[in-house]
Amino acid sequence: MAVFIPEEKISEIKNAADIVDIVSEAVLLKKAGKNHLGLCPFHSEKTPSFTVSPDKQIFYCFGCGTGGNVFSFLMKQEGLTFPEAVRVLGKRYGIDIPERPLSPEQKKKISERESLLDINRRAMEFYHQALNAGGPGQGARSYLKKRGISQKTIDDFKLGYARDGWDHLLKFFLNQRVSPALLEKSGLVLPKKNKNGYYDRFRSRIMFPIFDASVQVVGFGGRVLDDSLPKYLNSPETVVYNKRRSLYGIQRAKDKCRSADSVFIVEGYLDVIALHQHGIENTVATLGTALTPDHVRMLTRFAGNMVLVYDSDEAGIRSARRCIDTFWQEHVDFRRQDVFREENADTHILVLPAGHDPDSFVFEKGSELFLKAAAGAPGIITFLINCAIDKHGLATEGKVRIIKDLQAPLAAINDRVAQSLYVQQLAERLGIAENAIRERVNEVAAHKEHRAAANERFAGSGEPAHISGLREPDSTGRRMQMVDIGNRFERQIIAMMLQFSDILPEVDNLKVLNYFENTILKDVGKYILKSNIDSADRISELMSRVDSDQKRKLIAALAMGDESWNMKGCLRLLGKFVESGQKLRDRGVLDEQIRAAEKNNDHELLLKLLSQKQKMAERSEKQKMAILSDK
Ligand SMILES: [Zn+2]
Repeated sequence: MAVFIPEEKISEIKNAADIVDIVSEAVLLKKAGKNHLGLCPFHSEKTPSFTVSPDKQIFYCFGCGTGGNVFSFLMKQEGLTFPEAVRVLGKRYGIDIPERPLSPEQKKKISERESLLDINRRAMEFYHQALNAGGPGQGARSYLKKRGISQKTIDDFKLGYARDGWDHLLKFFLNQRVSPALLEKSGLVLPKKNKNGYYDRFRSRIMFPIFDASVQVVGFGGRVLDDSLPKYLNSPETVVYNKRRSLYGIQRAKDKCRSADSVFIVEGYLDVIALHQHGIENTVATLGTALTPDHVRMLTRFAGNMVLVYDSDEAGIRSARRCIDTFWQEHVDFRRQDVFREENADTHILVLPAGHDPDSFVFEKGSELFLKAAAGAPGIITFLINCAIDKHGLATEGKVRIIKDLQAPLAAINDRVAQSLYVQQLAERLGIAENAIRERVNEVAAHKEHRAAANERFAGSGEPAHISGLREPDSTGRRMQMVDIGNRFERQIIAMMLQFSDILPEVDNLKVLNYFENTILKDVGKYILKSNIDSADRISELMSRVDSDQKRKLIAALAMGDESWNMKGCLRLLGKFVESGQKLRDRGVLDEQIRAAEKNNDHELLLKLLSQKQKMAERSEKQKMAILSDK
């Protein structure tokens, strides 16, 4: 049932809840100045870097970069969704959550959604009965039996059978007065080419109902019993089924994932089923798609460790490369510091011996050997290094190719510490100087991130902190690992906006955000301006409103500092920032004109433009000197 929690209630609950109380239930906190410190529950550490600010009602871990408000803490700690966390806190603080009356639009949407879920559930029962009944289901049952699948598994996963014929399911629903239009929306029937009626999508297939985490049937997969094609047929995307967000088996896997803190990700329905039947219940499958950021987000709610299981090196390599992109994309929320904690990187690639998929492996060799193989599975990057060495060998030519293969994946790792550890590992294994590899990686990284402009903007002008005379965001001297995105100038402006709200009107007036290079920081800046919250816990409130966990962490990190901001220093910082942004823009325009003049062979214009550029460069040099000297 979709439930809407009114905005005011969320605020009321947030105001009533105290983050120190809530965190204290899970973490032993000690007071340290204004804040409380403890050992982080989200990564293993010996010295406390998990910080809770009662003033700001937020937490931030300087070790792993996790941060957020009281809701995010509960979500992460207990594996709850946002509405669940709101409810838990509401109950605890005695605040009732009424269900808001829905608009007709919302009602229609919800009722369509619920109708489709209901149709899917009834179709599941229909197929399941057909499999268990005698007669036509017999063949399908003996097929499953031949593959070693028990009756208990059939019932647990509600497997079914779609009989041969064009309209068994259609008739079943028409008899129950379900409209064909709605059936079509469920994807279970298709309109005939001549538009004269409908027919069943799934025929002569074993049916695998696909559930979401709250055990609703969102779609189906169907497998043939013989060698005909397509071997597998899936529901199309519908209002309730999105394959990029669905994982087969999640409804039965999630509890085990939580208790094991790990999840196996396989590729097929029968792989999931075989592993579950062998007691390896923390297993899910993607549905005809690579692992998406949405999948990763969902799984990190249930498990810290992920093992991706493949039946060949090639599939493993392809997926490992895609995963790196998925995990390290800027907009993806992922506990990336955790992935690369040296001792146990927590995303692994398991490639089974040739000729095996998880299904055949576990039936032939048993669950113990499977788990043993999984325990030895390398982390993503180590896996790629192994594969490249296997493929190219360690002769000189081979080493050159290995570096070529690996430079892009290495460059994609945003976490500098992790990156440098892997560069080191590769250098050691190849017997090459680290610097040589690092240079290649840096080249790729620079190229990839289009950072040239941002670097140019600040080249030679010294650190922005010197310009403004402001202190480092974190005065304890600990570096903020999370906050490596964007350049320091932009980060500092966001920190200022979070900690010193008096400056917000000026940020708006000067259109400061227009000059931001980093889109995430820019987005966060926009949120801060837009939200215009005037209350003591505006930072925590802001966190409830941003749309990704990464932004939440970023806000936590940048808000945590306690600097003494003053209007004059802040205005100066903004002024300089805008000025250099404008200059960069002017220079871009000038460069365009120069290129055009070159192309048109207009020598006179070209000379004029080049001299303008020269003057501009001299001016900016002089300004830099001035800034540095009046520091
Ligand atoms: Zn931590």
